[in-house]
Amino acid sequence: MDRYNIITGKNKREIVLLKAFPCVWGKCTFCDYIEDNSTNSSEINDINKNVLKEVKGTYGTLEVINSGSCFELPIETLESIRKIVIEKNIKKMFLESHWCYISRLQEMRDFFGIEVIFKIGVESFDNNFRNLVLNKNARFKDYKEVRKYFSSVCLMVGIKGQSKEMIKRDIDIVLSHFDYGTINIFTENTTDIKRDEELISWFEKEYNFLKDVSKIEVLFENTDFGVGD
Ligand code: SF4
Repeated sequence: MDRYNIITGKNKREIVLLKAFPCVWGKCTFCDYIEDNSTNSSEINDINKNVLKEVKGTYGTLEVINSGSCFELPIETLESIRKIVIEKNIKKMFLESHWCYISRLQEMRDFFGIEVIFKIGVESFDNNFRNLVLNKNARFKDYKEVRKYFSSVCLMVGIKGQSKEMIKRDIDIVLSHFDYGTINIFTENTTDIKRDEELISWFEKEYNFLKDVSKIEVLFENTDFGVGD
């Protein structure tokens, strides 16, 4: 599996996909990438140390992702990241967190002592779709609440049951109220969730202009950031 890449397009940065303990929630209906989670801390730390060796500090910005939240990375891995941050003069870091950790975000900021942008997998601002269909367990009322903690959001597009109106509203919210957005086009996996090809074709035409919007990245495959398998 590729775990390191350098992104030279929008939002230039290095990215690492680290291994971590099991996702705190682990029950989203569309997710099978938690299969990368492990309970073996020495295995996790060994893999992560090797991946982190690749970081060069090229752009001074590093994104750290794992199949879950940054709070599920073992302390030894967090310390390895902090060492790299200092050695490679990283000034800004993107980290992911589930909604359930909002009271702990400051802990991570204090730990790293640099600018940390928190990214959240909202998937949709439609509360029913997010929590009842996708079973995301992210129980905020609206985008205003999310914006208090996160400046980067991930949306999911192209799932059966989603509507054009939902997608339009979600993208409008990200364009108007967040500094960064990632749109993941759903790719079928081992879960029962199905892809809606018609909706995806519509999205591709309707939102072609997003390729010129610097704060939005659209991923047509899970591996479009150059990490994963
Ligand atoms: S919170 Fe993220 S990693 Fe955890 S089950 Fe949901 S989608 Fe998967």
